[in-house]
Order: sequence, then structure tokens, then C-alpha cells
Amino acid sequence: MVEQTTSSSEKQDKKNASKPEKVPLAGITVKKADNISEWYTQVLQKAELIDYSLVSGCYVLRPRLYAMWEKVQQLFDVEIKRKGVQNAYFPMLIPESLLNKEAHHVNGFSPEVAWVTQGGNSPLPERLAIRPTSETIMYESFAKWIRSHRDLPLKLNQWCNVVRWEFKHPTPLLRSREFLWQEGHTAHATHEEAAQMALDMLNVYAQLLEDVYALPILRGKKSQGETFAGAIYSLSCETFFPSGKGIQICTSHHLGTNFSKAFDIGYLNDKGNHMPVHQTSWGISTRSLGILVLFHGDDKGLVLPPKIAPTQIVIVPIYFAEVDKKRVMSAAVKIRKSLETDFSVILDDREEYTPGWKYNDWEMKGACMRIEIGPKDIANEQVMICRRDVGKKEAVPIAKVKEHVGSQLRQMQKDMLTHATERLVAATVEVTTNEELLKALAEKKLIKTAWCALPECEAALKEKTDGAKSMNIPFEQPEKLLSSCTLCGKTATVVAYVAKAY
Ligand SMILES: [Zn+2]
Repeated sequence: MVEQTTSSSEKQDKKNASKPEKVPLAGITVKKADNISEWYTQVLQKAELIDYSLVSGCYVLRPRLYAMWEKVQQLFDVEIKRKGVQNAYFPMLIPESLLNKEAHHVNGFSPEVAWVTQGGNSPLPERLAIRPTSETIMYESFAKWIRSHRDLPLKLNQWCNVVRWEFKHPTPLLRSREFLWQEGHTAHATHEEAAQMALDMLNVYAQLLEDVYALPILRGKKSQGETFAGAIYSLSCETFFPSGKGIQICTSHHLGTNFSKAFDIGYLNDKGNHMPVHQTSWGISTRSLGILVLFHGDDKGLVLPPKIAPTQIVIVPIYFAEVDKKRVMSAAVKIRKSLETDFSVILDDREEYTPGWKYNDWEMKGACMRIEIGPKDIANEQVMICRRDVGKKEAVPIAKVKEHVGSQLRQMQKDMLTHATERLVAATVEVTTNEELLKALAEKKLIKTAWCALPECEAALKEKTDGAKSMNIPFEQPEKLLSSCTLCGKTATVVAYVAKAY
């Protein structure tokens, strides 16, 4: 999918970057299974989620997408505050000397840093990096603020944008040069406390992704080769697309004392010794929304879990004669009023479109539920209700609409995760030989296998399979490994998930 996605969206990117044009209002013209990259590009634009900007790789997040990001922010903010994390804000410009302080970190990021070199007409004495992530600028402050063990733990988070000037083909949300995220940064007195924090945050992400995004999540540890630049280990939430590729959604890192030694962040312990702090950092970005769109959508367009959908319910009034209009509209308005305190609901009263056109439009935009009401329905004191994920129409008495809608939205949220999990389980195979592994990759499976976890073994796998890699190493490991490394035959040390990577 990488090849398809990039080529198509890159073309789109170039086209739109040079000459912004109005997107025609029509349904999705390509089947998801036939050309997923074109499908993705069309859905993002036609469902009014993103638009292209004049800079390739930088995208406009339109209100319907931003509303989804706001929900993520609200829900996540509650969780981190429960864990004692406070929000703060640090500058986006980082002096080069500061960025260079932690060697692994700078090596990991330098290929994709965007620089400010000039202020007005004068060259700057020192280049300023536009933050690719904020470890360095935040830890400069941590060093000033942390003096004694009483200053620990320090737990800060910021909601911000970052810029990573990727030279690979940009894809909206999934691979963009600027994106929005939150980045949490904590400092602790001990290694164990930091380890617990990194794990706790991974679990907060996993729960958010399962409960709100309805995505089945593989929690685990990244391989050494995939560890964040500057971390001692990285934990990740990954998922596996029904189309057969794995993707990392978010990460939580144990930074150990790598940064605290480089930035001199320390405290005096009871014995009066100067001790380096143990740190974590963790983040989730708008990339997760691209994954959401790509994962759940179908040939008609977006399918969104109710907890994140910007529009949960759309009411479509049906009348053809002017005599019916008043009755239908007044019933429709009544229903909207009864629902709007508890749900996000839109009454689509646009006169220039037919009811059938509106059905398609809202299916494409991922409204979770559609309520149709016409003269006959009013006579029967009922409405027709159609759930986006199931697609079946059901007659519901007007008196019971609110109750029905509430229970069906809860059911839809649950069903979407259940079905997605079933598909992931069905796509998973355990293999013990190289042949089985290659066959499973060709069949687009998610592979679980014994592995040596050595970087050179992973590099050989990537080379041999055109981009397969370890996704992560699940926390639940067998007590005893029954076979040697499936890939290279050396001693296996873990069981890992392996897949073609998005
Ligand atoms: Zn190996």
C-alpha cells in the first residue's frame, strides 16, 4: 500500500500545492479494496476532513477533523490529570546547540529538522530548529527546576505542533511535515518509577484507542532497532489493517538517564549525593486520526465510532409536496431538540438536495446514525433509523427515538471494536519456519513468531521481504521459547509480532 498511497497522494499533493481547486461534491468513486490510496485521498477531501495547502506535506485540518482531535484532547487530558500531569507550553524554536546536547537524539532527528536561519533580513548568529519534538527545550528547564527529591516527580505535558521535514512522499495525516500532538515528559527519582510511568501511559493510550477509536491494539516493546533516539526502550501501541499492513500508532519511552546526564538534571538524595533523574516521554498525534479513517472506512466513505464522530446523528426530512413540508419539518425539529442535549445531531434541511443525495452525503461523512422522517412515518408515529456500520433500516416509534438512539450508539461503539478485533485475530498466524513466515507475509498476515531480536536480523528481514519488520514484542511472553529464531536460526529471546509495515 505504501507505493500506491504515496504515488497517488503525492500527485494530489503537488497538484493541490500548485493550484488549489474546489473539490467536486460527489461520492467516493473508487472501491477501497481496489485502490486504497485513492480511496483515502478522496475520503479525506470529500468528507471535508483535510485540505491541501501551498506547502507540500502540510495540510489544513478542517473543522470536522479538528472536532475529532478536540475529543481526543478532552478525553486524554482528563486521564493525564488523574495521573498528576500538568499542561504547560514551551517555545517551538530550539537553538542548534541545545538540540545537539544528546548525541543519539540529534542523530535520530537531524535528517528531518527544519531550520530558521534568518530573522527579517539578518542572518541569525545560531540556527534555530523548529521543534521535531521537545525533549531538549523542555529538559533545559527541567535542569533549572529540579533541585531536590521534593521536586520529583515532575510530570508535564504540552499540546502543540511539531515539524519533521520528511523527504519520503507525504500522505495527509499519516506522513505529514507538520502535525499536532501531545508530548508528555516526566522526571522521577528512580528507574522503576519511570518504568511504571511509561507503562501507565502506554495503557492510557491503548484504552483510548480501543474504547474511543475502536481499534484493536497490540501493546508491547519496540525492538532495539526501532527504539526512539535517546531512549533506553520504547513501548508502542500498534494495530493491523484488514488490508494486511501493520502500523505504529503511538509510543511511550523510558529515557533512563540519557537526557538527565546530558542536561545535568539531578537532585540531592537523603545522603546528599547528586543523582540523575530517570525520565519518560510519550506522545500521540493526529496521525492516529488518519489510521482511524483508513481502518474503519468502507466503499461509501467514513465509518466513525460514535465516541469520536463529529456528527453522531443526522435527521433527513422527506417531503415532496409543499403541504407536507410544515408537518415534517416541525416533527423533525422536535426530534432534533429532544436529542441535541445528549448527542451531536444535525437536521439536514438543505432544500437543494434530495433525501437520497443527503443519505449518501452523510454516509460518506460518517454520521453514525440517520433518522428519516416523512409524511407516512408521521401518520404511523414513527421514524426510520439506519445505523452507518450495519446499514439496515429500522422503524422506531417517535416516543422511543431517544432511548433507541442512545442504546444503538453504545452498541455501535462496541460492535466496531468487536468486529475489528475478530478480524485482527483471524489475520494472526503463528509460524515456526522461514518458509511459513514468507508465505504468511505473502498472504498479508499478522505474524507471531520466535525471534532473536538482533538488529542485524531485523535489517535482513526488511531487505528480504521488501519492508516487513517487527511491530513490537508483546508483554505477554511464553515461559519457554520452543524454537530458535524463525528468521536466522540463532537463539530466540522473544516472541514478536512481524508484519509488512505501513
Ligand atoms: Zn534472528
